[in-house]
Amino acid sequence: MITPDEVVTPMTREWQKMREKFHQSPTLAALVLVAWQMGLWLARAFVEYELNQRAQQAEQWGHCPECGAKLQSKGFVKCRMLTLVGWVEWKRRVGRCPHRCGGSQAVPFDAELGIAPYQQTSVELMRLGCMLAVFLPFGLAVHLLEQLSGIGISDGALWQ
Ligand SMILES: [Zn+2]
Repeated sequence: MITPDEVVTPMTREWQKMREKFHQSPTLAALVLVAWQMGLWLARAFVEYELNQRAQQAEQWGHCPECGAKLQSKGFVKCRMLTLVGWVEWKRRVGRCPHRCGGSQAVPFDAELGIAPYQQTSVELMRLGCMLAVFLPFGLAVHLLEQLSGIGISDGALWQ
């Protein structure tokens, strides 16, 4: 049988703290909940790493919608998104027209990922939130989404 440490052993304090909490969980329910959080933590780490890796690849810059000049990279800019596995952060290149035309800012990497400009919540989280809010009383939907995703969601956020 494979032990969990053979599967994965992140050497971070956060992980060690979760491992301790896990070992100290007295009931089955507590064990499962902490293990669930550990799974989410791992999923988030995987997603964040993959996004940061992919963002390093050379970008194909389009042209300015105003003057037609080829867009230029302004460098890497941080992006933060609330997802089903928690807050995910990565850095990707943002481009703009060399003539500084208004509305020329472009983020090809976001478009590749299916992210709309100014989007702050990931699509899979919105879908789940909507489904829960349709089928359950509102307070219960908020509670369940928090349990599933491990993220604190305000009533107002889910309502939106
Ligand atoms: Zn331009």
